[in-house]
Amino acid sequence: MTMNVPELFGCKVFNDAVMKERLPKDTYKALKKTIDEGTHLQLDVANVVAHAMKDWATEQGATHFTHWFQPMTGITAEKHDSFISPEAGGKVIMSFSGKELVKGEPDASSFPSGGLRATFEARGYTAWDPTSYAFIKDDTLCIPTAFCSYSGEALDKKTPLLRSMQTLDKSAVRVLKLFGNNDVKRVITTVGPEQEYFLVDQEVYNKRPDLIYTGRTLFGAKPPKGQELEDHYFGTIKARVSAYMKELDEELWKLGILAKTKHNEVAPAQHELAPIFSTTNIATDHNQLTMELMKTIAARHGMACLLHEKPFAGVNGSGKHNNWSISTDTGMNLLEPGDTPSRNAQFLLFLTAVIKAVDDYQELLRVSVASAGNDHRLGANEAPPAIISVFLGDELEGVVESIVNGTDYHDKEKKLMSIGATVLPHIPQDTTDRNRTSPFAFTGNKFEFRSLGSSASISGPNIVLNTIVAEVLDQFADELEKASDFDKSLNELVRRELTAHQRIIFNGNGYAGEWVAEAEKRGLSNLKSTVDALPAFISEKAIDVFTKHEVFSKTELHSRYEIMLENYSKVINIEALTLISMVKKDIMAAACCYEYKLAKTLNEKKATGLLPINKVEENQFKNADKLVDSLADKLEKLESAVEKASEIEDVCELAKYHREVIFEDMNALREVVDALEVIVPSKLWPYPTYGEILYSVK
Ligand code: ADP
Ligand code: MG
Repeated sequence: MTMNVPELFGCKVFNDAVMKERLPKDTYKALKKTIDEGTHLQLDVANVVAHAMKDWATEQGATHFTHWFQPMTGITAEKHDSFISPEAGGKVIMSFSGKELVKGEPDASSFPSGGLRATFEARGYTAWDPTSYAFIKDDTLCIPTAFCSYSGEALDKKTPLLRSMQTLDKSAVRVLKLFGNNDVKRVITTVGPEQEYFLVDQEVYNKRPDLIYTGRTLFGAKPPKGQELEDHYFGTIKARVSAYMKELDEELWKLGILAKTKHNEVAPAQHELAPIFSTTNIATDHNQLTMELMKTIAARHGMACLLHEKPFAGVNGSGKHNNWSISTDTGMNLLEPGDTPSRNAQFLLFLTAVIKAVDDYQELLRVSVASAGNDHRLGANEAPPAIISVFLGDELEGVVESIVNGTDYHDKEKKLMSIGATVLPHIPQDTTDRNRTSPFAFTGNKFEFRSLGSSASISGPNIVLNTIVAEVLDQFADELEKASDFDKSLNELVRRELTAHQRIIFNGNGYAGEWVAEAEKRGLSNLKSTVDALPAFISEKAIDVFTKHEVFSKTELHSRYEIMLENYSKVINIEALTLISMVKKDIMAAACCYEYKLAKTLNEKKATGLLPINKVEENQFKNADKLVDSLADKLEKLESAVEKASEIEDVCELAKYHREVIFEDMNALREVVDALEVIVPSKLWPYPTYGEILYSVK
């Protein structure tokens, strides 16, 4: 049967078309005003909307509703309530009120709150986000909501994101007014997140407790064939994977998610899905749903989807490219160079604002992508380095240089352009000079922030981006609003700021060792691990910018900082416990068994004297013996390190300890396990190897 995509698209979404069709005119208008302008929604209006939502949902077979929210766990949460309401005669009807739609009261005490729990009551509430459409998933009407404590502190990833979009809106509109764009009422940020993932066979996956408990392999020797032949990227998609991708697309489309591009990625078993961009908060909701569906649909196809940043050492890990831009409600992309001089000046100012923001707040961007999982990628020669820099491409870089130096600029056709902030040559959108090693690259009409981890919510990085760009736009607006000669002041400002922030612009190879040295000379920060990066989140600079723009209160920042630190320690702790258990139970036994077999052969030969003892056997035995001793040593070291962790109370010290001691002890133990894996016979080795996992989907 052929699929009718336009008909299928959004069929499980209570979207604008459905609202228009099902809501009384007045209700629709009031709701639309709330969505577009953020006005308060009256309860009687909410009642009508709830009723229509319930009718629509039950017609599609839904029996329950849930406030769908994004607590600090990084995944989504839902508690299902049925629509039933008792009636006389022992019967029920299906009902859903406006009150139930706009507000829910989940117990907040079981979600991470990072100290907020102690200061505030455990009660929390969820509040409807009417800007993100309700949808049906698993026979449940899901209502996207924000999650707050009773005193209004954000306990989730949506609330601060909405706040950051609001502040950027205000600042950008201010700047646009200076250019005479008085018709612009709203500015939004747009995001298209490209999502990488691995698919492995479910049966093989089930045999690896490390994949089950930690999402990554904690040991595994390099397979004979990895990604060196470069034959996987954009390669033909295997039938089983293709069937999976088809179903995934279909389910995403039903949810109104604009799944667009799918292809094989660099590593064996690695793939990517990219949607068409949308408003940031919707893109964030959709990315969470995409990750969830990737996993559930994989299970239906007898596979497991790995979203971890580094499931396998030695082959590429997975990231998420956050394509980000700023648009007006009049349909103008503010990062589109355009070809009219007035537009150019405006573009140049926004470009300058982004460059300055990235430079001024590089540490915050770094923290926004920090996690135990992403530590394996950043700076590990396949993903962007932990150093944040901006790539502009030859053309734009040339323009920036001539502005800074006050020199002439020749465009591609060798025409001479006198560069002020008002004249800019045509910048082709097709940037042939792509730089995959840059963490923050201009790609024609948007920036691509490439440092995000594959499993994390995209909310954090976008909160930071929106806030820091809003801050710089405000600074520019403050200055330019006072100017007596706008053009002159604009030219001066652009030139001054581009000159001041030259250090953040880097068009070279971000993977090269020289860049690390060069970046240090330039004074750029290089925060190698999550533990190094996190303190920036509660620095004075961070507190200033976030509180000024009302994105985070000081308390919220501290609570998030604590959650991130705690989370880091917990992740490493779970990994250590998993590794210990796998080594203790099965690997030690396999290694000892192999050693015993070797010893037995040697002894029998010696005792009977029938066969000569050869060097190979003796060496094999010695080698195995050494590795088994070392295995026992390293295991004991890790076990006692894990035990000692319970003595550390300070969350920051504890995270540091996990990074500097436990993580290192795990690596040392892993090295021995990997050395054993290559000598212990396959039939004795208790776990699937990298080769068996990476090539498990036939
Ligand atoms: P790539 O070569 O990196 O795959 P694409 O042109 O395919 O680049 O775009 C990648 C992503 O960027 C897509 O998700 C796309 O929708 C998104 N994108 C395009 N324009 C914008 C924009 N103005 N704002 C945000 N994202 C955008
Ligand atoms: Mg890309």
